[in-house]
Amino acid sequence: MRGKYFTRKDNLELRCNLCPHYCILEPGEKGKCSVRRNSGGNIVTDAYNNVSALAVDPIEKKPLYHFYPGKNILSAGSFGCNMTCLFCQNHDISQPSGLIIDKRSRMITAVDIIKKASGIMNNIGIAFTYNEPVVWHEFMSAIAEEAKKVNMKTVMVSNGYINPGPLDDLLPLVDAFNIDLKAFNNDFYRKYTGSTLKPVLNSIRQIKESGRHLEITFLIIPGHNDDSKEFEQCISWIADTLGKETVLHLSRYFPSYGFTAPVTPFSTMEDFYRIASDKLDFVYPGNINMPGIMNTVCPGCGSIITERSGYQVNHMHTVDGKCSECGKQIYDNFI
Ligand code: SF4
Repeated sequence: MRGKYFTRKDNLELRCNLCPHYCILEPGEKGKCSVRRNSGGNIVTDAYNNVSALAVDPIEKKPLYHFYPGKNILSAGSFGCNMTCLFCQNHDISQPSGLIIDKRSRMITAVDIIKKASGIMNNIGIAFTYNEPVVWHEFMSAIAEEAKKVNMKTVMVSNGYINPGPLDDLLPLVDAFNIDLKAFNNDFYRKYTGSTLKPVLNSIRQIKESGRHLEITFLIIPGHNDDSKEFEQCISWIADTLGKETVLHLSRYFPSYGFTAPVTPFSTMEDFYRIASDKLDFVYPGNINMPGIMNTVCPGCGSIITERSGYQVNHMHTVDGKCSECGKQIYDNFI
């Protein structure tokens, strides 16, 4: 499938403009994301119609806690990623060999994905997740356009490493975003993800300014992005730029993909939770059982709004998305 977002150079080279890598591709060459290549004078995407995984998840698992809480979402992923995180949990599909793509590929149309989503109980739409959906831009847009026709919601779980123009094109189509903020440190981004921090912050700001639903995930990796002073700066940036009502998920790290940092200690999770909660109203720990603080608490009156255990919503104490005690608006998107 012919991809969007490229310009022709003077010779046969093409420049891909989808993400800040701006790969220059000679004929036959693939970009850093491994699914976009120069073929026949165009960028073609091997990810179009190509699904590596389809599964039904609670929306809390994305994680999104303030977007249709308690609902399911059909989660779809493809192949490839424009980052090369050494700690990736899904490296088999994000950094795929040709063999893996052959084995796991399932060709499917956008209409068929919507049909599948329509048959699932308690389902609100489609989440683009598992690998990096930025590099799936064309097919993701096609699915989202079909979803809009039947009033389904769409969600993008992303690293946020995308150029402003292509992101602008997604904003009318995608209803909610969870963006990974992997560190508040450009050296970390360069060394461990093969990318840079600033474009990610710009994307986060652009999504916020668009009015689309936004939540952020920060994976705490011991010895690499767990400096408490740096994290305080990160939280100040979130509070000042995005607002204190921004939902932040603090995710516990477990060793993956040959990265040998130890599991995030419980005490670090507690410390970071405290630092974030000093400035933000909604902070949730993930990949860890910390009873009580998985709940949503009303910042107005302190009442419990939503009781959770794991990804399960047990009780909601809201009326029209508002706290049933004091009437403060908590959720804008709910059924
Ligand atoms: S989307 Fe892929 S090919 Fe395009 S610039 Fe980014 S990494 Fe390179």
